[in-house]
Amino acid sequence: MQFEAPNPEVVALVAALNPAQKEAVTAPPEHRLVLAGAGSGKTRVLTHRIAWLIAVENVSPHSILAVTFTNKAASEMRGRIESLINVPVRTMWVGTFHGIAHRMLRLHWKEARLPQNFQILDADDQQRLVKRVLRSLDLPDDKWPPKMVTGYINGQKEEGRRPEAMQDQGDYAQRQLARVYSAYQQQCEANGLVDFAELLLRAHELCRDNPQIQAHYRNRFRHILVDEFQDTNTLQYAWLRVLAGDRGVLFAVGDDDQSIYSWRGAKVEHMMRLGHDFPGLEVIRLEQNYRSTGTILKAANGLISRNNGRLGKNLWTEDGEGEPIQLYAAFNEYDEAEFVVNKMKSHLDGRCRYVDLAVLYRSNAQSRVLEESLIRNRIPYRIYGGLRFFERMEVKDALAYLRLTTSRDDDNSFERAVNTPARGIGATTLERLRALAREQGTSLWKVAQEAGAALGRSHGNLKQFLDLIDGLARDIQDEPLSKMMETAIERSGLREHYKKEKGEQAESRLENLDELINAARGFERPAEDEGIAPLDSFLAHAALESGERQAGEGEDCVQLMTLHSAKGLEFPIVFLVGMENGLFPHQRAVEEGSLEEERRLCYVGITRARKQLYLSYAEVRRVHGVEQIGSPSMFVREIPPEYIVETRPRAGILRPTFSQPSRSYGSGGGYSPGSNYPSRGGYDRTPSRTATSAATANDVPGGYKLGARVRHAKFGEGTILTFDGDGDRMRVEVRFREAGTKWLMLAQAKLEAL
Ligand code: ATP
Ligand code: MG
Repeated sequence: MQFEAPNPEVVALVAALNPAQKEAVTAPPEHRLVLAGAGSGKTRVLTHRIAWLIAVENVSPHSILAVTFTNKAASEMRGRIESLINVPVRTMWVGTFHGIAHRMLRLHWKEARLPQNFQILDADDQQRLVKRVLRSLDLPDDKWPPKMVTGYINGQKEEGRRPEAMQDQGDYAQRQLARVYSAYQQQCEANGLVDFAELLLRAHELCRDNPQIQAHYRNRFRHILVDEFQDTNTLQYAWLRVLAGDRGVLFAVGDDDQSIYSWRGAKVEHMMRLGHDFPGLEVIRLEQNYRSTGTILKAANGLISRNNGRLGKNLWTEDGEGEPIQLYAAFNEYDEAEFVVNKMKSHLDGRCRYVDLAVLYRSNAQSRVLEESLIRNRIPYRIYGGLRFFERMEVKDALAYLRLTTSRDDDNSFERAVNTPARGIGATTLERLRALAREQGTSLWKVAQEAGAALGRSHGNLKQFLDLIDGLARDIQDEPLSKMMETAIERSGLREHYKKEKGEQAESRLENLDELINAARGFERPAEDEGIAPLDSFLAHAALESGERQAGEGEDCVQLMTLHSAKGLEFPIVFLVGMENGLFPHQRAVEEGSLEEERRLCYVGITRARKQLYLSYAEVRRVHGVEQIGSPSMFVREIPPEYIVETRPRAGILRPTFSQPSRSYGSGGGYSPGSNYPSRGGYDRTPSRTATSAATANDVPGGYKLGARVRHAKFGEGTILTFDGDGDRMRVEVRFREAGTKWLMLAQAKLEAL
């Protein structure tokens, strides 16, 4: 693509950049690393660099390869560049590492020794295949959890190791794993299947080992640009090196302080090695931040300065100090969600739109209570990069068991539960059952009961499943709802099933199951309160909430997401919720010694905010259906106190203990009390929180407040913990000193305020 004269629009755009950004964008064709903190314009510089190369340096879009972190970022980048230079850039390769590898393998399937119609094996399919291979090698699932073995295979691939290159070190387990890897790979080859790690490995080998292809791409891609470079894994790095060869010019942008994917094999050390592997590399630092207020930036700087071995940089802004960060000590997770929603409403009253608001959390399971509040308040929302709570696989699996206990003829639930976890009931058997059920116009359950020995080998297994459901139904019928849920999760084998999977994903599933028990707890109440059994209203609630339409992409709605998915994004107003030790920093991360990565994650979270940041934690949170006492995250304390205001002074209400309460979750994070926050630290719950202590955010319609002390004619004195529903259907959860915790219909409970 040729231009007669430098494109004046691009020249003007570049003129508007700051000197360091300008230097990066207009650099001569030599290797550059833009090393800079959050919001300093790295992504913007990368986009402008591409526009500059095309429009001013007359580089053909054909010779540009740009790597982004997500597919969404790739399409945004393409759009941005097209609008900057007003030329279609179809021939330019922009995408994620996986997307680009896939494209290459499709083009060169023959050279890559793949069938032309090779298929991609997604994570679930991959695991199923690993399972089959384990079975064929007589390695039992319980000793060789498929998830673990899959992780092993992917890890080998990410390090570029093929089965034949594995060294036998005389270790039995190692030898078995190598055997599985080898057999698995043979299966993939025989069936033309390519898993995610294989995409990268094969594309790397293709470029490394095939001289023609290597020469072709080295010749073609003169400019290789990589965003979020700090999260590059070994294989991706090796591939970049092969592609660049001696002539390709690398332009990488990244921030060592935002490296948050080491658990997926990303290595920030690649950033340190760049100078060695790409001779003449110059580092450009950007320190001016254009995203956040001074306050938010200084808070982020203060926090991240606690990490060791940083490449070191300090962000500053020309913007004013802005609003202080608001910290809210919530009574419990419901109170926290109400706080978020009420703050949202106050912003929405002004010029703010839904899309300006984002809620970030460490663990997926935290979304449930927030979702409930948003739905109740009719605030449209979307879970960015994920599913809503009641749509998640493990949640639906567990609910299917509970549904079957009340309604055996629910075919959907039958289909879901019958073989999750696997019980050796084959596809043929199920097909048979379906045909019979169709013929007889009855349910799968009924035909399963009657089918008997005609089903062959599966019969025994099927019978066991039917007995499991009958037994479960019998045993839980008089239990409180949360216990029902818990028993269903245990007895179905679902918890074991997901536990065996190991890894981050499995952990998130287990947390969701625990959260489901919490959700059930919220529906417990004396049956006479309403005509509907708690189990029925809970199941209806789950079905209705998952049926609520999630706002579509591009619609004006609030965004909810995990901190990991928030990378690279920005929002005017950010809520960082669940700031408690054990939750964030996550207990497991602390145990595994990755506290610094958790801190980087917190840094990522804080720096997503442009104008206003809210932090919140709950003093009591339900974990696994049980109320546990939390202590505020050590990260809260690591933010210099002058940038934070507590939105609710609570003098005399909570008693700081500074010793770890026995039932608290989390490690306590090892931080000691400081004098800046007399009211912060580890808190002991005192039952004497009075109505006057609660903030307006805690108003329970009807004149009560969360935390208020009340008296009930039958149950005696108690404290209001939560409320739910509205109007006549408003329910409150009260913890009575003598009678325990109860849900009551507010309209009928005749509570007396104390
Ligand atoms: P992250 O580390 O979070 O990925 P980043 O370094 O990639 O951040 P960008 O997203 O590129 O930062 O930029 C942050 C914000 O600052 C964006 O809204 C961007 O448009 C704006 N910005 C960047 N540079 C400038 C500039 N020179 N003038 C005005 N605004 C700018
Ligand atoms: Mg960026």
